[in-house]
Amino acid sequence: MVGLTFYGGVNEIGGNKILLEDKDTKVFLDFGIGFGTRGKFFEEFLTPRTANGIGDFLVMGLIPDIKGVYRNDLLTHYGREPEEPDIDAVVLSHAHADHANYISFLHEDIPIYCGETAKLILEAVEEQSKRDIENEVLNFKRRPLFRKDYRKPPVERTFKTFRTGDRIKIGSLEIEPVHVDHSVPGAYGFIIHTSEGAVVYTGDLRLHGNSPQLTLDFVEKAKESKPVAMITEGTRIDVEKDNSTEQTVYNTAKRIVNDSRGLVIADFNFKDVDRFKTFYKIAAESNRKLVISFKHACFLERYASDKKLNVPDSNDENIMLFKPKLGTGTYDDGDYSNYKFIKNRLNYPNILTADEIRRKQNEYILVLNFWYFNNLVDLKPENSVYIHSLSEPFNEEMEISFERMKNWLDHFNLKSYRAHCSGHASRFELRKIIEGINPEKLYPIHTEHPEMFRDIVPGDIGVDIPLKDGVYEIK
Ligand SMILES: [Zn+2]
Ligand SMILES: [Zn+2]
Repeated sequence: MVGLTFYGGVNEIGGNKILLEDKDTKVFLDFGIGFGTRGKFFEEFLTPRTANGIGDFLVMGLIPDIKGVYRNDLLTHYGREPEEPDIDAVVLSHAHADHANYISFLHEDIPIYCGETAKLILEAVEEQSKRDIENEVLNFKRRPLFRKDYRKPPVERTFKTFRTGDRIKIGSLEIEPVHVDHSVPGAYGFIIHTSEGAVVYTGDLRLHGNSPQLTLDFVEKAKESKPVAMITEGTRIDVEKDNSTEQTVYNTAKRIVNDSRGLVIADFNFKDVDRFKTFYKIAAESNRKLVISFKHACFLERYASDKKLNVPDSNDENIMLFKPKLGTGTYDDGDYSNYKFIKNRLNYPNILTADEIRRKQNEYILVLNFWYFNNLVDLKPENSVYIHSLSEPFNEEMEISFERMKNWLDHFNLKSYRAHCSGHASRFELRKIIEGINPEKLYPIHTEHPEMFRDIVPGDIGVDIPLKDGVYEIK
């Protein structure tokens, strides 16, 4: 018997945790954080307690309460007995938190399979973010019951990386990863050959990015496998068609930069390499330097090491690094001693302070995320513009931040523009992908509107809308 259990990604965008069982083999497809589920109970100042080990996460339904999955330090902290791991592997589609981050809770003997580039991104995340219980994907510090045991070195997880063309054997399964186009590099869909036929999992994908061919390759390969089941993402099943592409983002942003006499501030997600390339290109063509943060540099340097991505390193002539004001506020080297990712790069020749940017505003495009808007106080932008190159707010909390962001923009007279294209397939694209793959059965996840799939698939494809924790037998 082959079974699928959907522990996350149900009626929610992200949080995918799908257990695939074939005879004695058990594999999780992704193990991500469900921001929607988490946001139902927690917020900035009300967070799951780490002092309770895994307890708060289990009780509030952020992760499934099943055996043989979790770290023993977190279980014992919650008063449970230690357990032997009973999962053969986690196969990770890509390095977005809603697919990857709750790997943090998993037993260290469960190996993680992911794309080579996805691993690089996880390393960049690790280098520059503060360690916390929900962000210990690559390695973790044990949380023992006794304070004296706290100083032990981190426990490394086993990561096995793959590329398109590889075939991964795990127990009775053979898994074929195939690249797809998404708003992060190193994204894959999977064709999983089980003893009852092929099961296809899309991960997150689209057809309107810079490399639709990647997704089309996946569709072609998946179709050849004559799948008995397909698990598809459906983030934008409610949006008929996409008129925005990376090219339209470029066109819009280029026009804004050309017309601007002051500083250009761009806000985009640095995991999105295509977006980085768009702004890098515009900067180079406009005789401006692209100024990035030290956090961004952690990502860029890893991307640059992956020759296939074809991106410049952070020492490129068109790239500058923005030095934040910390500690004494005098840019003293000592101010950065607790920030290793900055300290290790202080000898770079291409570092700028806010004051240096302020004096030559029309020479730069500054990548500045909203969380760092307090730097505007020093940057004192004049005749300047802001380009919002991110998705629109889609929940209440984001709406509140968005309002706050607008207040900052108003305060500094920053003219605001928008240039963005989504990482996810529209309804039109989803229809094309599903018709192309032509599975016997479809399981829509990673969407708030799974029922809408019934309207778009041909009559001979059965749509089964998964329930949370529901078990679905394949044949
Ligand atoms: Zn996702
Ligand atoms: Zn994603």
